[in-house]
Amino acid sequence: MTKKLYLSTPQETLFEARVLETRQTDGHPALLLDQTLFYPTSGGQPHDTGFLEGHFGRCQVTDVRKIPEGILHLVEGDIPVPGDTVKGRIDWDRRLRHAQRHTAQHLLSQAFFRINPAFKTVSVSFMGPLCTVDLEGNPSSMDMKKAQALTNGICYKNLPITDFVVSDRELADYSLRRAPKVSGSIRLVAAGDWELAACGAPHLSSTAQAAPVKIQKSENIHGGLVRVSYQAGLEALADYDEKHDIVSSLAVEFSSRVEQLPLRVQGLRSELTGERETNLKLVQELTGYRFREGVGEALTVGSVRLMVMDFAEHEEDVLKKTMKRMEQHPGYLFLGILHLTGKLEVTLLRTPGVELSAGRLVRQLLAELEGRGGGRDDMARFALGVDSRESIVPLLLTLIDAYSSSSSGSSS
Ligand SMILES: [Zn+2]
Repeated sequence: MTKKLYLSTPQETLFEARVLETRQTDGHPALLLDQTLFYPTSGGQPHDTGFLEGHFGRCQVTDVRKIPEGILHLVEGDIPVPGDTVKGRIDWDRRLRHAQRHTAQHLLSQAFFRINPAFKTVSVSFMGPLCTVDLEGNPSSMDMKKAQALTNGICYKNLPITDFVVSDRELADYSLRRAPKVSGSIRLVAAGDWELAACGAPHLSSTAQAAPVKIQKSENIHGGLVRVSYQAGLEALADYDEKHDIVSSLAVEFSSRVEQLPLRVQGLRSELTGERETNLKLVQELTGYRFREGVGEALTVGSVRLMVMDFAEHEEDVLKKTMKRMEQHPGYLFLGILHLTGKLEVTLLRTPGVELSAGRLVRQLLAELEGRGGGRDDMARFALGVDSRESIVPLLLTLIDAYSSSSSGSSS
């Protein structure tokens, strides 16, 4: 078995150990040591990383796992042999962040429990900077605020964090927040007189080291639980930094003081609503003018009137409104040409009383011009290169003419 130095001396970063066994695990060399400071992934907390070195050379510890025989270190680099002595160093920055996430969870879970004993912690995760606590009892947003304030208050009291081992027979003498999942010898962790829980992971040495603790959000999840997401210590500070930078640049962008940003955004939103209303009125007015112009210039081919209108890129709304308006005018084929950057988007629409199929005409057009599209009898769409603009109308007139003659021929 491996002696768990990460529990007995959790504040240390350096240790010495003897290699008990080497093996291959998942294609990687792996080592069992007689003792280790490397914490294995367990209880929702990621493993430590770092390196081992000795006369054999040096290897990086990339993964650490708990197995029945002890603690297994997956390594990359030079590999020692059984019996070798190795010196190990854990990545303290990574461990500190993990211990901050984990210790903050103890304090936060206890805070919820003290606000209401129904707020029991069911599960936890510290696998990323945004940690989670899943709670029973449906705490409200006011409970979140209270729990955050209580937790940070306990941090600033700088209570010592200690641990000790008791037998499961002695457990009844202790008032634990939740019953342990293991039996036999049980390791209890205490944060002053605030928190007492069974736990097998490394912690900070005082509550102050977990500060600040910031709840980021809460959401309802499966099983009627509420998931509280929080950040702790250095990671909460990094999050504050990032958000501060975002808000500061928004303040510059909106020419506003940070505290006046909500009012400024509200003002801009109502300004935008006003602008949209004005724009809508202008589009309607413009549609009216353009429509009358289009009707005046429509060409008569056989029994239909062909109305051709060109629209600039910013006039897409005018095109849509014109098409809507066309529905009220029987006997027309409407050709709307939207000029976009480097291409034309063309719509062919037939209004009530016209028998020609827009889809068929477009298929015939595309047999002559290089483009893509298609559609139904009442409406068809296609895209063409800008160079084809001048060819569309003459070709369409020829097609309509041929179409009309063939249908009058077939009906006679
Ligand atoms: Zn713990």
